[in-house]
Amino acid sequence: MAEATGNSGATLPPSVDVVIAGGGIIGVSAAYYLAKAGVSVALCEKGRIAGEQSSRNWGYVRQQGRDPAELPTIMESLRLWRGLGEEIGEDLGFRQTGVIYAAETEADMASYESWLEIAKQYQLDTKLISAQELKALLPDADHKWAGALHTPSDGRAEPKKAAPIIARAAERLGAHVVTDCAVRGIETEGGRLSAVVTERGPIKTGTLVVAGGAWSTLFCRNLGIELPALNIRSSVLRTSPAPEVTDGAVWSKQVAIRRREDGGYTVSHGYATEFLVTPALLRYGHRFLSAYKMERKRLRVRLKRQFLDELLRPTHWRNDEVTPFEKTRVLDPPPNATILNEAFANLKSVYPVLKDVTVAERWAGLIDVTPDAVPVISPVDSIPGLYLASGFSGHGFGIGPGAGKVVAEMVGGGPQTIDRTPFRYSRFFDGSDVRPWSPV
Ligand SMILES: Cc1cc2nc3c(=O)[nH]c(=O)nc-3n(C[C@H](O)[C@H](O)[C@H](O)COP(=O)(O)OP(=O)(O)OC[C@H]3O[C@@H](n4cnc5c(N)ncnc54)[C@H](O)[C@@H]3O)c2cc1C
Repeated sequence: MAEATGNSGATLPPSVDVVIAGGGIIGVSAAYYLAKAGVSVALCEKGRIAGEQSSRNWGYVRQQGRDPAELPTIMESLRLWRGLGEEIGEDLGFRQTGVIYAAETEADMASYESWLEIAKQYQLDTKLISAQELKALLPDADHKWAGALHTPSDGRAEPKKAAPIIARAAERLGAHVVTDCAVRGIETEGGRLSAVVTERGPIKTGTLVVAGGAWSTLFCRNLGIELPALNIRSSVLRTSPAPEVTDGAVWSKQVAIRRREDGGYTVSHGYATEFLVTPALLRYGHRFLSAYKMERKRLRVRLKRQFLDELLRPTHWRNDEVTPFEKTRVLDPPPNATILNEAFANLKSVYPVLKDVTVAERWAGLIDVTPDAVPVISPVDSIPGLYLASGFSGHGFGIGPGAGKVVAEMVGGGPQTIDRTPFRYSRFFDGSDVRPWSPV
């Protein structure tokens, strides 16, 4: 585990240009690029840096299979990942070792082929490879796949290390990174944001970026703003060090694996996602019908205690009241043992050389998903000075540095090098056809 970052005992700066709520990969990357541009910035994290999704994810850094709307940003993100470790002077664990999506059937191959057209438009090195070519890449796999989609320029990084390292780099550039410090709300003057109120007092600022991951919808709701997102539970395990079957990341319906720098694998089920029934589903469910139709085969719908927890949780509070953010410093949902046992058994049957591998750790994370699985990186027009950077929908780690740069360009006033039109908040309300691009 990387050493703790941020300062839970820090005094808050009285005023800054920009406050960021949330110290995941998005918040820390935004803080880094803002501080680098000379903008004064305070990042407030209710718990610890990367305590939630940003340390719990699989570690894939991929362009492959994305909604075309995200491609310019993820391509820029890959470029940043390649140089960021050296720029910062610490190893983020990034390696350009490729990503493979194995295809179970010819129908899967056909759906991959449709994405290949997009890859060509963006001059990516993505290829559709045959079963024999896949066998050459994964000689230790014992499964009859139809072929695969392969992008050699995709990569992997170490989630536990990356965001804390970027946060420390932002601090060295002058950013205030304050942990154990929830943002409760805002103050306005003449309708414009004038201060951000934290559990330790106010910070005068004209700009707040909400990068709260699975909490952003609740934060917004207290301000009277609807951010339609639902939380999906994903369970993961890591193995002890084991023989190398790949140096990169391989997804298949049976099991998704990523080689770790400690010599083990991060392992997940390739085809089981848990969709939790929550009060938010009643509020936003109708917006997710297209996504549900596309994904229903892989969704396991669950009614868990979380329904009650969320039902009883306040949705409105005053700035001088303790908020739900302070009551849950780090969201740490229990992993699903059934799904993980299935994934682990599949790991051993697909890769028999891993038959003696043992489980070193299990965990889960809640993923904030928007109706089109595309993030929101956008101002909110009804409150000038309020910006959102949320809803990264299960693929925000790889795009993190690129998205951080987009945020910095959006609020820092510099040149806008990446088009953020597809990330606009207004798409949920202006009659746009909001649906996921593809299930690839
Ligand atoms: C199991 C799993 C596997 C995944 N696999 C991949 C993958 O392989 N590749 C990929 O690209 N992505 C993957 N993802 C998605 C990726 O992890 C997320 O999209 C990304 O980490 C989101 O970053 P974030 O900064 O928006 O959110 P988070 O990392 O969740 O950070 C949000 C932070 O905000 C803080 N916060 C919330 N509210 C407040 C408040 N009011 N005040 C202060 N702080 C607050 C929280 O404590 C939290 O630390 C996966 C996710 C999971 C859970």
